[in-house]
Amino acid sequence: MANIIDGKKLAADIRGEVAEQTAKLIEERGITPCLAAVLVGEDPASQVYVRNKHRACEKAGMASQQFKLPAETTQEELMALVEKLNGDPAVHGILVQLPLPDQIDTEVVLRSIAPEKDVDAFHPENVGLMVQGQPRFLPCTPHGVLQMLRRNNIETAGKKAVVVGRSDIVGKPLAVMLAQRGWDATVTLAHSRTADLPATCREADILIAAVGRPKFIEADWIKPGATVIDVGINRTDKGLVGDVDYEPASEVAGWITPVPGGVGPMTIAMLLHNTLTAAKS
Ligand code: NDP
Repeated sequence: MANIIDGKKLAADIRGEVAEQTAKLIEERGITPCLAAVLVGEDPASQVYVRNKHRACEKAGMASQQFKLPAETTQEELMALVEKLNGDPAVHGILVQLPLPDQIDTEVVLRSIAPEKDVDAFHPENVGLMVQGQPRFLPCTPHGVLQMLRRNNIETAGKKAVVVGRSDIVGKPLAVMLAQRGWDATVTLAHSRTADLPATCREADILIAAVGRPKFIEADWIKPGATVIDVGINRTDKGLVGDVDYEPASEVAGWITPVPGGVGPMTIAMLLHNTLTAAKS
């Protein structure tokens, strides 16, 4: 039976560390870290995410501003708000919640966020710095995954890691980060065109699923004793389900993350970490 990696507990630890450092920053330099979150439209999941981020900031002693714009907001209106936040010295981190409505070009908006306030780390400048091994911020979900490994003393050096999913926000940066010096994994980045995905997954000492399909990764794709990190969050009739078929998988894996209570809470913790970093610099 696999050891369970408790994302809630780890995230609470990190949030506690961030809260301590926030209190110190306020006391010593009079700076209160502030995150501005921009939400466009009424997407229910996005509303929950923004609310949770707001609450997490408050709990960590940070300031947080929320901007809720109607679904018909134009690109110019959204960029005018981002521009205003870029220039506001009281705001240290800016996050534009995705997905954005169709009339808005997401890439253009993300590139308009000042890189030093880009706490999601999606700006090409921050992606480039990360790839070169000199990150200003690390993207929150991949960073949360790495923290889960490190804080459970799960060795990555010399191990074979397989990341399934190559999105710009999860799979691709995670594959790069695992291969960096210091993490030193040998990485395979799998996707929908990968030939014989089950066999590829079976080679993994560390298997990371970021696909967005409920229970997609089956137990017999997992090498016995492997570490399985499930990034997937899929809404089904039976509630939230990960990308891994959890019950049978946990009979085979050595370590496994549950959904919910796994990677999800880590993402917010790492967002707070980045907001603190932005406020310090
Ligand atoms: P995307 O939809 O952007 O990417 C999905 C990836 O999975 C793509 O690279 C796609 O391949 C690959 N894929 C799809 N079908 C298959 C298949 N049959 N075989 C192999 N690969 C496949 O998703 P995201 O990366 O944004 O999100 C992935 C999951 O993680 C979602 O469930 C999302 O909700 C969750 N998530 C969780 C977060 C958290 O905080 N825990 C944060 C962000 C996301 P291709 O490129 O070839 O199309």
